[in-house]
Amino acid sequence: MTQANPAIDGAVNAASLRIGVDVGGTKIEGALIECGRGGDAHDGVRVIANVRVPARRGEREVIEDIVTVVSAMVREAAEKALGPIEGVGIGTPGRVDSVAGTVENIANLDVARLELSREIGEAVGLPVHVENDVNAAALGAYALLDHSLVIGDDEAVVFLNLGTGLAAGILRGGRLDHGSSGVVGEIGHIPIERHRWVCPCGQSGCLETAAGGGAIMRQWPQANPPMPDILAKANDSSHPECESAKTVLHTVIGAIADAIDVLVMTVDPRVIVIGGGTAKTGDPLLAEIRKELRRREQGSAFIASLQLSDRIALAPLDQPIGAIGAGLSW
Ligand SMILES: [Zn+2]
Repeated sequence: MTQANPAIDGAVNAASLRIGVDVGGTKIEGALIECGRGGDAHDGVRVIANVRVPARRGEREVIEDIVTVVSAMVREAAEKALGPIEGVGIGTPGRVDSVAGTVENIANLDVARLELSREIGEAVGLPVHVENDVNAAALGAYALLDHSLVIGDDEAVVFLNLGTGLAAGILRGGRLDHGSSGVVGEIGHIPIERHRWVCPCGQSGCLETAAGGGAIMRQWPQANPPMPDILAKANDSSHPECESAKTVLHTVIGAIADAIDVLVMTVDPRVIVIGGGTAKTGDPLLAEIRKELRRREQGSAFIASLQLSDRIALAPLDQPIGAIGAGLSW
C-alpha cells in the first residue's frame, strides 16, 4: 500500500515533519513530508513516503479512510525513526471552514458535514488543519516549482485546477490568498462562456460549463478520459470525427484561455501552474492552450504585451501535489 518516493530537490534546513492528505472523488492520498520549519513553501519539500486508498462514499467511510491513510504515514515515520510529526493537513473538496475545521457538502462522496479537525484529531492524536483542495494543490505546486524560476518575495503564483470543476488557488509571496469569504479563485463561475449553458450554480455561461471535467465529458461522451481522444481526432484530418472534435476542442480550450486571461488581468501572476485531472493529458494539452493564447496575442498588442503564453506551465504529473500542499497548509 505504501511506497517510497524519490526525494525532491529542495533546500530543507530546519526540517519539520508533517502529514498531508488529499481527499479526492475517487481516491484519498496521503504523504509524509519534510519541509522547512513553519511549513514555508519557499523552503522546499521532500516526500518521504506516500499512500493511496480508493475513496468510499459516506461520512463514516471518509473519516475511516482518512484515518487509515494518516495511520499508515505515522507508521512509516516510526519505522524510519523519524519524528516528531507536527501535525496533519487535509485538502478536501466541498465548502471548507479552516478556522472551525469543518467541511460541508462533498457531493461526490455523499458528505453533508464533517468536523474533520476534531474527528481526525481525536482518532490520530495530532493537530489537524483543513484546507480547500485547490488551495492545497496550489501550495504543493508552488513548493515544487522549477527552482530556476526566479519568483520574487511578493510575486503572485496561480494554480489553475482543471478538475471536475474549474478553479484557481492564488498565492502571493508563497502564502495563500483566502479573500474575505473564501470565494477567491472560483473563476469557473465567471459567466462569460458564449454557449450560455446552464450551470448548477444557477447562472448561465459559467466557464466551468465548457472546461470543467464533467462538461468535457458531456461534450465528448465517446471516450473516458475525453481529452486525449479529442486531441487525437482533432489533429487527424482523415478521421470522420475530426470536425466535431475540433469544435469541442475550440470550446474547451477557449474557456481555459478565458480563465487564464482573467487570472492574468486580475492577479498578474508570474506563473500559472496548470494541474488537475484534465491536465494529465500533458504537453499536447499545454500546446493547444499556448496556440490559442498566441492567436489572441496576434490579434491584440495589449494581449501580446501580457505575454500570456510564456506564463503557463504544467504541474508535475508524477507527484502528489494535493497531499504535499495539504501538509504545507497550516
Ligand atoms: Zn456556475
